[in-house]
Amino acid sequence: MDAPLKPRYDAVVIGARCAGASTAMLLARRGMDVLLVDRDRRGADTLSTLALMRAGVLQLHRWGVLDRVRAEGAAPIRSTSFVYGDEVIEVPIKLRDGVDTLYAPRRTSLDALLADAAADAGADVRYGPRLVDLVHASDGRVTGAVIEDRDRAVHRVAADVVIGADGLKSTVAKTVGAAAYREGRHAAAAAYAFWSGLENRGNRWYYRPGVSVGAIPTNHGNTCVFVAIPPARFRDELQGDMDAGYHRALRECSAALADEVSQGVCAERVRGFPGHLGHMRQSHGPGWALVGDAGYFKDPITAHGISDALRDAEYLARAVEQGTERAMAAYQSTRDELSAALFESSDAIAGFEWNLDGVQALHKDLSRAMNHEVEALVSLDPQTEPTLDTSSTPHHKGDAS
Ligand SMILES: Cc1cc2nc3c(=O)[nH]c(=O)nc-3n(C[C@H](O)[C@H](O)[C@H](O)COP(=O)(O)OP(=O)(O)OC[C@H]3O[C@@H](n4cnc5c(N)ncnc54)[C@H](O)[C@@H]3O)c2cc1C
Repeated sequence: MDAPLKPRYDAVVIGARCAGASTAMLLARRGMDVLLVDRDRRGADTLSTLALMRAGVLQLHRWGVLDRVRAEGAAPIRSTSFVYGDEVIEVPIKLRDGVDTLYAPRRTSLDALLADAAADAGADVRYGPRLVDLVHASDGRVTGAVIEDRDRAVHRVAADVVIGADGLKSTVAKTVGAAAYREGRHAAAAAYAFWSGLENRGNRWYYRPGVSVGAIPTNHGNTCVFVAIPPARFRDELQGDMDAGYHRALRECSAALADEVSQGVCAERVRGFPGHLGHMRQSHGPGWALVGDAGYFKDPITAHGISDALRDAEYLARAVEQGTERAMAAYQSTRDELSAALFESSDAIAGFEWNLDGVQALHKDLSRAMNHEVEALVSLDPQTEPTLDTSSTPHHKGDAS
C-alpha cells in the first residue's frame, strides 16, 4: 500500500512522462519537496515515433540519464539520411557539445527512467492517482491540487506551484483557462509500427509529394517505421484498414524501405494518429505552470516534442527555483522564442503543400532553429547545472570531422 500523500509540497507535477518527470527531477535536485503524479502505470506506452534530436540527447547526457537509456537497449544512431524523391543526403552526427550519437528510446523506457531519476532525487512519485481539480485561494491563485487515488479517495494537497505536464488534453490548462495564443494551420496524420530485422542505418526520413516516411532505430534491435500523410487520406484509406493503408503509403514513398520492411518481422500492431493542430498556450499564472504538450504542441512530423519537453523542463525548473512572476514570464518567452521557427516549419511540413525543393528549404529552417536551441541550452549557467553524466563522455571521436 502507498504511503499517504503529504498535506503540502513545494511543487506538485501532474503527468510523469518526458515533460513532467524531467521537471520533477530538476526541482527535486534543487532541494524542493516535489510530488509527481500520473494516472497511468509506470512504463506504460504512448503514441510516439520516439526520435530525439541533439538538444534532447544533450539534456539526458547532462542530467546523467543517458547511460540508463543506453543500458536499456536504445540503439545508437550515428547518421541521419534525408531522401527527397530519389536524392539521398546523408549527414553524420558530428561530435558537438558532448553529443555524437542520437537515440530513440521506447517511451516505456525513457519516461520511466526520468521518473526514476526524479524519485532518486527525492521526489514522491505516484502512479495511479489522477488530478481532478485545482485548489484556488480567494484571489484566484492556485494553492494546491485535488487528487483522486486508485481507491477513489480524494485528497487535497497544498503546493506553492502546480505544474501541468499532463499532455495535449491537459486538465490543468483547462481548469486555469490557459488561452492558446498561437495555433497551427495543418495537422499531419501518421501510422507506425515496430519492425525487427532491419539494419541500423541511422535515422532515415523520406519525402515525396503528399507523403513522408521515416525509419528510426529504437530499443532491442527494433526499428520504428512511420508514414505521415494528410488527415483526409488517413480517414479515407487507413481508418478502415490500417495495415493495408500503411503499407501502401510506405511503398509509394520508398519502395526500397518497403522491401526492407517486407523482410522484417512486425513486433507490434500498426498504430494510427489522425493528427492534431498545434498550439502555444499561456503557460504560467499565479501558482501554476504548464510544460510539454500541455502548454505547447507542434505537429509531430518533425519529431521534436520530446526534445522540446526536456528543454522546457530545464527552463521551467530554473524559473520555479527563482520563484518570481518575472522568471516565469521569461520561461514562457524563452520557450516561444526557441520554438517559433520549429513550430512554423513543422506546421508547413505537415501541410504537404510543398514540392521537394520546398521541403528541403523547410528542413534548412528547421536545422537553423535546432542549432539555435542547442546553443541556448549549452549557454545556460553551468553553476546551476544539475548532475553531469561523466561516464558518458563521447566515445566515437571518429565522427567528429
Ligand atoms: C504519433 C506521434 C508521434 C510522435 N513522434 C515523436 C517523435 O518521434 N519525437 C518526438 O520528440 N516527439 C514525438 N511526438 C510528440 C511527443 O510524443 C510529445 O511531444 C510528448 O509525449 C509530450 O510529452 P509530455 O510529457 O508533455 O506529455 P504526454 O507524453 O502526453 O504525457 C502526459 C501524461 O500526463 C498524464 N495525465 C494526463 N492527465 C492526467 C491527470 N488528470 N492526472 C494524472 N495524470 C495525468 C498522462 O497519463 C500522461 O502520462 C509524437 C507524437 C505523436 C502523437
